Order: sequence, then structure tokens, then C-alpha cells
Amino acid sequence: MTTIYSARWVLPISTAAIEDGAVAVDGQRIAGIGPEAEIVAKFSSAKIESLGEAVILPGLVNTHTHLELTAMRGYLEKEENDFFAWLRKLTIARLEHMTPDDIRVSATWGACEAVRAGITCVADASDSGLQSMLALEEVGLRGVVFQESFGPDARLAQENVEKLKVNLAELLEHESELVRAGVSPHAPYTVCAPQLEMIADLALSEGLTLMMHAAESEAEDLLLREGCGAFAEGFVRRSIEWKAPQMSTIQYLKQVGVLDTQPLLAHCIRVDNNDIETLRETGSAVAHCPKSNAKLGHGRAPFAKFIDAGVLVGLGSDSVASNNTCDILEEARFATLLSRAAGAHISAEDALRAATFGGGHLSEGERADLIAVRLTGVHQTPGYDPVATLIFASSGRDVILTVIAGREVYRDGRVTTVDEDRLRARVKEIDRKFTQMNAN
Ligand SMILES: [Zn+2]
Repeated sequence: MTTIYSARWVLPISTAAIEDGAVAVDGQRIAGIGPEAEIVAKFSSAKIESLGEAVILPGLVNTHTHLELTAMRGYLEKEENDFFAWLRKLTIARLEHMTPDDIRVSATWGACEAVRAGITCVADASDSGLQSMLALEEVGLRGVVFQESFGPDARLAQENVEKLKVNLAELLEHESELVRAGVSPHAPYTVCAPQLEMIADLALSEGLTLMMHAAESEAEDLLLREGCGAFAEGFVRRSIEWKAPQMSTIQYLKQVGVLDTQPLLAHCIRVDNNDIETLRETGSAVAHCPKSNAKLGHGRAPFAKFIDAGVLVGLGSDSVASNNTCDILEEARFATLLSRAAGAHISAEDALRAATFGGGHLSEGERADLIAVRLTGVHQTPGYDPVATLIFASSGRDVILTVIAGREVYRDGRVTTVDEDRLRARVKEIDRKFTQMNAN
């Protein structure tokens, strides 16, 4: 059964915009794309879905998130000026107060938020990888779930990698056409050098993708360059030995072999021109998370420099514990304005390419991951140029349709794959538990 989606605009991104365009979807694939009249004539028995004054484009990609933490939206506001305290409160809440079902509910709620905002693919770092994977599959969201690994103490590196392998084996069993498994050594300040080396080797030998946090904060920079600061003090308190490599995060990750895996690196705020060249040479990609970075006061990554240098850069919401929304259109607007405020010009087209992690593909034979954004809002009218309207005047709340692998997972204000009312009630239960913890 072929379905034709038509709208005022179709933006394939990789090719020119089509006015009064249409996309024909057959099963999981795009069967045709072009002017509406041509597509309707070519697929004469197809069902036609006319979306009117809207724009159809490839699905948005959230290149860095932690859906399992969705229930912590707004929970850590008081700690946001102290990154060390923020991480500690988050870790305690997750490890000691969330049941596996709480985590599953939290991740599923996050996946609903994602598809509502036109996100069709996520790079999701998760401590409870299996729960996150099941959440993505339940909602019908495409993505890679990166099983996290922690361990700053070199004496426990081997043991921690064995634990990672056990978790990973479980994830690999649950892989599907939509959801794959990857590995995520959490960060340079939570994973020691031998463990980073072993995980990089594992990723290479098993053909797994690797995502990690990199060059995010001043505290991380101080730890690596000088062996001092909040993270170093934390290590002393826990009797963990740490010898500073006396170099930037990016050069350190190159030295321990992480960049050999062509990783996806979240943040990359504290990078110089030499680091950017290293990212390009090694084929590393960057997940730029400007709203999370700004909210935690970590600074701003050189988005325009990444683009100019030819580094593949996408946009990430990070967890909603530090954002507080998972909305890649909003992220794209913020990234663009922030760059321009600092004197670096980013065009609406650049921003849209980043929001689709390199452009996406709306072309015949490609997988049918597409969205529609309505253009009829008062805040969008008049518009003149659909790309500028998307980036500067729209948000995820203007999305009216999300199709992943040919399946409508969000349509007319409703996620079609799960019972959102039941989920909302469970999320409120978790909220009450956290509120009580705060009161105690
Ligand atoms: Zn993160």
C-alpha cells in the first residue's frame, strides 16, 4: 500500500526545495518524491494525505540524549551552578530511587517527547541500556542506545569492562531493524585511561559505535591539564590515583585510542584549532548541545568552526534534566543565534543540516523517516522562506506528523504507538517520589 504525503513545501535538504511537493511511501521506503501532480500521476492507486500549508522534511536527529533521565526534568535546578553536586544528585536519584520500571517509563516518556518534536532518530546514552532500548522499540523511534560504562579507578578497569560486556550482550540480543546497540565510556573524568583503551578496542573489534562526553567543563579541563579542581579533589577523597596527562581532552582521547573508533563526541566546548583539526582527521563527529551547555554554565562550542573545518556536527538536547526540553528545532535556533551573537555566521540551511545530522535523505529508495511541520501559526505567518521559518519561527510543537520506517508514530497531536495517559500517570508517581525525597 503506497501513501502519498503532499504539502506546500517538500525539503529534501540534499536537493532543492519543491513547492507543492509530495513524497510517496511504500512500506518502509520512499517510493518517489517530486511535484505533487507528478507523484499523484505516477502512483495513481495510492492513498493521498494532503497536509496543506506545511513543510515535509527528513526526520530530525537528536545526536545526544539520555532518555532514561526524562523523569528528572526540573529536578536539579538548585544544583545547576555546581556541576559536581549536579552529577552526584542525579546519580544518587537514578541508582537508588528509580526502579527498572521507573527508568523504562522515564525513557518511554522521553521517546514520546522526541517523536512529538519530529525527532526520528536518537543517539541515546544510557546506564540502563536495555530499558532504554525497549522504550525506543515501544514508541517506534529509531536510534542507537549506547550502554554507559563508568570507572575512574584503574584497579577496577578490567572488572568494569567485563560488566559492560554482560550488559552489551543483553542489548545485542534485543537489537532490531530500528534500534542498535553501542558503547559509551561516560567521560574522561569518570572513566580511567586503561578502561577507555579497553572500550575503544572492544568497539573496534565488535564493530560498535562509540559515544562519549568530551571537553564539556572547566573542571574536566583542569583535571586533564593540571590534575586539580573539583574532579581531582573527588578522586583524592575516594583514594583514586590520577596522573594528569597534561593535554586537552581531544588529544587525550586520541592518545588512548578513542578517536580510532570515529566516535560521536558530545559537547566539545573546550577545543582549540588543533583539536578541531584532530577531530576532522580522525573522522570524529560532534554532538553540539548548546542549550544544555548554556544552562549548566559550561560555555559554547565553536559550532561554526566545526562546520568550516568539515567536522560532521549534529545537535543534541542532552538529558532534559539539563535543558529542559527535547526539541531539536529549538536547539537549532539557539545554536544559530548563539553563534551569530559571538560573530560567527551560521545560515538557516547550516542549522537545518545539523538538525538532520548531515542532511538526512528524502530520495527514492531511502528509508521513510520524515516529518511534517505546519506553517499556519500566527508566529510563522508570513514566512516567505520555508527553511528560515523552520529555524527562526518554529519549534517541535509545530510538528504535525512523524513517520519512522514508513510508520506514522505521531499524528494530529497523538503518539499512536503507546498509551500516553497511562504513561503520564506513572511519570507523576515518579515525580511525587522525587518531591518527597527533596522534602526529607
Ligand atoms: Zn550527556
